[in-house]
Amino acid sequence: MSSPARSEARPHLQGVRVSKSESSQKKIQAIRGMNDLLPGQSALWQYFEGQVRNLMQRYGYAEIRTPVVEQTALFKRSIGEVTDIVEKEMYTFDDRNGDSLTLRPEGTASCVRAAMEHGLLHNQTQRLWYQGPMFRYERPQKGRYRQFHQIGLETFGLEGPDIDAEVILLSARLWRELGLFDHVTLELNSLGSLEARAAYREILVAYFEDHHDQLDEDSRRRLTSNPLRILDSKNPQMAEMLAAAPKLIDHLDDESREHFEALTGMLDAAGIAYVINPRLVRGLDYYGRTVFEWTTTALGSQGTVCAGGRYDGLVEQLGGKPTPAVGFAMGIERLVLLLETLELVPDDALGELDLYLLAMDDSASSQALLLAERLRSALPDLRVQLHCGGGSFKSRIKKADKSGARLAILLGADELANGTATLKFLREERDQLSLPQAELAETLRRLLDDTRA
Ligand code: ATP
Ligand code: MG
Repeated sequence: MSSPARSEARPHLQGVRVSKSESSQKKIQAIRGMNDLLPGQSALWQYFEGQVRNLMQRYGYAEIRTPVVEQTALFKRSIGEVTDIVEKEMYTFDDRNGDSLTLRPEGTASCVRAAMEHGLLHNQTQRLWYQGPMFRYERPQKGRYRQFHQIGLETFGLEGPDIDAEVILLSARLWRELGLFDHVTLELNSLGSLEARAAYREILVAYFEDHHDQLDEDSRRRLTSNPLRILDSKNPQMAEMLAAAPKLIDHLDDESREHFEALTGMLDAAGIAYVINPRLVRGLDYYGRTVFEWTTTALGSQGTVCAGGRYDGLVEQLGGKPTPAVGFAMGIERLVLLLETLELVPDDALGELDLYLLAMDDSASSQALLLAERLRSALPDLRVQLHCGGGSFKSRIKKADKSGARLAILLGADELANGTATLKFLREERDQLSLPQAELAETLRRLLDDTRA
């Protein structure tokens, strides 16, 4: 940026001549709500993603990767025309052919499309997981972005309630392993069958019509298009009226009620606490029966970190054979934020360097390069950065200090002459050691075992 305020704040730049073309060209910046993930953060993301990937494998899930762009019709037909996502949040554009394409706002529709397209749903069950960027045109704020990232899973061909319970247990295990379990709450509801929902809809509309004067503008619009979503409204002026509204859970069909009771029975047996939230309806049309969200109070109003449910009708709706399905998605930004807020990031998850290896002058560069390679072969866990780019001895030591590594190895003319290396402790008051190069790997192994144990 070259605004006047900025250059005043940097007096040393005053009077520096800026060429005309430079000053008239505004620097290009990232798109609002779409974030760069910088080195300080990426280690934390990798830690989180690594934990989830590992867990998915332990539960027998296989990864699926689909394109970030799909035909617009896929999302309209699956998420539903009268949902926030489709009505106002999608990034939709015509490509050069005139086809309407959309940056995926969520992962389930693409996953179903791909599974159908490749015959993954023929007479077989599937347990799939995915991860990647999603795009929604929302007002950016803490925990809410226009490009955000989800990790999710989808299962196909299983009617539940055992699988419903297992996907919830999988998420619960993740919270435990991350140290988050005491900071999240499981909210649960059943949306019943299509028929039960249709009957309930009439009861609900009648109730809202009796309270028409209390509905806000958005809700009045939804009264004809999607009255269940009114229950989801966060308008405090409507809270009391909504709390007293008839509850879908009291109007379930028998099968859905049995399904729900069996699910809660399994969660009870597994010792997973939950809160039944009769107003939990989820913002996507494809859900039926089980819906759930894991929420936290530690992130302000963006409190849902994981959300999902059963969507038995979706495959058929997209042209496939009727296939029961259940899944969930979690928001990586919110979970990473939560880990940071609660200071639950283990030190060694931050990917810090163990060792900075430097030649004291250029004559030892080649030997330093080879020594670093030998150490990497001998100690595959070692995080070692080689000093590159020359410079004075002083500047090399400064770089070693700044690298964050605990140890430095120095190679100079003396070391080369007698086959040794100098080991320096960068973060402890401890004398440096001169070691035969042949013993280096063993010494480093011991030092690292001590710190990592
Ligand atoms: P919200 O009620 O917060 O808008 P949602 O119901 O629209 O969430 P889902 O479509 O269920 O969200 O997506 C699952 C998860 O993805 C959410 O629980 C949240 O953690 C994350 N998520 C959704 N939208 C965003 C966003 N714009 N920015 C960051 N994370 C998001
Ligand atoms: Mg939303």
